[in-house]
Amino acid sequence: MTVKTRFAPSPTGFLHVGGARTALFSWLYARHTGGQFVLRIEDTDRERSTKEAIDAILESMQWLDLNWDEGPYYQTQRFDRYREVINKLLAEGKAYKCYCSKERLEKMREEQMQHGLKPRYDGHCRNDHTEHAPDEPYVIRFRNPDEGVVAFDDMVKGHIEVSNSELDDLIIQRSDGTPTYNFCVVVDDYDMGITHVIRGDDHVNNTPRQINLYKALGAKIPVFCHLSMILGDDGTKLSKRHGAVSVMQYREDGYLPEALLNYLVRLGWSHQDQEIFSREEMISLFSLDAITKSASGFNTKKLDWLNAHYMKTLPAQKVAQELKWHLERKGISDFSKGPELTDIVKNYAERTHTLKEMAEKSLCYFNEIEEYDPAGVKKWIKEGSVEVLETALQTLESLSTFESSAIDEALNALAKKLDIGMGKVGQPLRIAITGQAMSPGIGDTMMLVGRERTLERIRKAIEHFKN
Ligand code: GLU
Repeated sequence: MTVKTRFAPSPTGFLHVGGARTALFSWLYARHTGGQFVLRIEDTDRERSTKEAIDAILESMQWLDLNWDEGPYYQTQRFDRYREVINKLLAEGKAYKCYCSKERLEKMREEQMQHGLKPRYDGHCRNDHTEHAPDEPYVIRFRNPDEGVVAFDDMVKGHIEVSNSELDDLIIQRSDGTPTYNFCVVVDDYDMGITHVIRGDDHVNNTPRQINLYKALGAKIPVFCHLSMILGDDGTKLSKRHGAVSVMQYREDGYLPEALLNYLVRLGWSHQDQEIFSREEMISLFSLDAITKSASGFNTKKLDWLNAHYMKTLPAQKVAQELKWHLERKGISDFSKGPELTDIVKNYAERTHTLKEMAEKSLCYFNEIEEYDPAGVKKWIKEGSVEVLETALQTLESLSTFESSAIDEALNALAKKLDIGMGKVGQPLRIAITGQAMSPGIGDTMMLVGRERTLERIRKAIEHFKN
């Protein structure tokens, strides 16, 4: 049997970390087993589904590089198929039209509640043979079995059993003719040949009803795997209150996809006490039986730690791609004037915590300096600093090679000659060429700025600070 999993988000909002974790586990299981991964957009709720949400889901999946083999399928494009199945169920007597009025259903509900019963449809229209006017509204209900139990062995939750007497006749088509969620999911999973349904445990209560539908369709019942929810730092259900929850917000905040994926895989899955997993390792080690039953807690510090790890250890080329995205968002479009992005990554990976911060700190290599950091100026531009800048300029102009080590050496020698600390040479220079009092080593910084621009910026700063 070839494994086939799917991720089936409802596009009613952005892809949040809980959804991304579900997508990751489904994707990993397919990749681990050499199976197939399907993406399906469950957009039947037309009022709450939006184009922006669909785009955000696709963009997030692409950014995380959770590639799908089939789809994206859209439920709204499958209405003919749902209708066909409904007609078949009607013809076989496995579904029926229900003409019960709202008033009748409400009255029934109230009476059941008064008697301390769980409200459920009483099957009034199951054997209704009366004539109805063609325009009389009706819904279509699934004829749920009366007897017996529905049982399944969930990969995470274990054995689950529900008596059929607890389940009522589910509406599969609304009075406006549209099919309902629990029905579409089953038809889709059946048609798409899904073997393993991996999803959030908010759907565990739907599963017995869905299993009865599978049986009515004569379909093989997939393996179910319901993932426990993710809690925030404070132990309550993860929500916007806890800060960023959407995948794209993590991108905006400067996290690498590798860090987020590594972080997500550990939310509810473990392999011994290993914390760092490359994509290849996740794929080879992932298994459904190592998924934990308990809810997992979100821990921003750990995500930060992983992000720092990947910023330092991934190939600079890879990190540079993400840096480029951030710089572009900050208005940089011409990269030809600045240094190689990989050189920025090499110099800044240890000094910054996020790509966002790295981009902010490296804007000075692409933009002209409009302003010198006032706090830095106050601290480092003192009497005599202009003279130091002038002497340093001469020293730098006379260097035969503009290599980082040669620059450092020459400036150190200059500090010695002037009998002042290196800070009094390096800091005014740093402010002159980056606008800020913090940057990599002065030689490395000058190399990133480039020889001509370094000299030009020092000259400009001399003019500026003279006044
Ligand atoms: N569309 C559902 C959701 O976004 C998922 C349904 C499923 O995975 O079966 O919660």
